[in-house]
Amino acid sequence: MSTVDVSAALDALEALAANASTSSSGPLNRLLNEHFTVARERILAGSPPKQVITELQTNLARAKKDVEKGLKAWYSALGNVGKSVDKSFPPNLSAISAAYDDPPLFVDAAASKALDNIVLDSLGRRGLWDAVEAFEEETDLHYNSEKRVLSEELYRIVHDIESGNLSSAIQWTNENKDFLAAPPHPSSLPYHLHRAVFLSFTDRMKALEYARAHLFAYMSTQPVLALVTSCLYSGADESPYANDPAPLASMFITDYCRRHGWAREDPLEVVVDLGSRGGALNAIEKARRVMGERLGNVRKWEELPMEVPLPPNRRYHSVFVCPVSKEQATESNPPTMLSCGHVVARESLTRMVKSGKRSAKCPYCPQETALTSAQRLYF
Ligand SMILES: [Zn+2]
Repeated sequence: MSTVDVSAALDALEALAANASTSSSGPLNRLLNEHFTVARERILAGSPPKQVITELQTNLARAKKDVEKGLKAWYSALGNVGKSVDKSFPPNLSAISAAYDDPPLFVDAAASKALDNIVLDSLGRRGLWDAVEAFEEETDLHYNSEKRVLSEELYRIVHDIESGNLSSAIQWTNENKDFLAAPPHPSSLPYHLHRAVFLSFTDRMKALEYARAHLFAYMSTQPVLALVTSCLYSGADESPYANDPAPLASMFITDYCRRHGWAREDPLEVVVDLGSRGGALNAIEKARRVMGERLGNVRKWEELPMEVPLPPNRRYHSVFVCPVSKEQATESNPPTMLSCGHVVARESLTRMVKSGKRSAKCPYCPQETALTSAQRLYF
């Protein structure tokens, strides 16, 4: 996807800043430290000044070339960032906005403010607090201070997880135990955190002690016994769990966002990802070229009048339509899975049960499902 190009270009820029030979102060510092200091010391020590200065001039000319080389790399990297951003969006964004909307997008104050708020939120989500402060000054918006405290906690714990320290994450799961265990979506994060600690022990007795204290509680929902018996493998490397770490950081982010009612993904990132070149905006622009005025005004559409293929991680299925009744599932008429794996709405299942029977035949395959074994599904 196009945003990858942008992040690759930004990474290249950061690499330049981190490299001593191209960082903003590196070559100049070298010039001052190496050449000027050395020349001064040599003159003070009695070397002929004329010779020292001639040599200094040669060194300076060489150092200048280094600085110029570094600058060239910066210009080229900066240019690449601009180009990759341009490439990610249709070239005539403002024309598209003017063509589809009346008034054009983001001209009224409320819309601009909404956009600014999303940008501010996105900066906070990335932990870019310097940028948040600069943006606050420019827009008169204020990042919610309570949310900032939470975002910082999230960052701190994710950083801990990534550097192999799980104690802060485990503490958080203990503090939020009831929430995490609550149906309909009990979290497996606490189990996976303890599992990772268990697997990190080299001393088997200590590992077993840890399992007894922290893992056996999950016996009814997780394969605890199989995990614990992995101690019997002669070497840690032979264990089937050796190279099977759970994605703890992303699991933690998911649960943390759920705990505080935040969208799991950055809304700005999702919108840019879906809308940018290759996404919805491109499809709309193509349709406009083909259909012209007949396409009408985007704001009046309830759904896009064309197919927009989405990458798998951007496909959201929050709606279930029963294949039998063609009705959308609701809380009182939820999707229900039959023993064969086929899914219908509960009311359809009830209607499928013939009088006097306690089971129903699946409308798609020959299998019968006892009413008691049909399971409610959550999307
Ligand atoms: Zn079936």
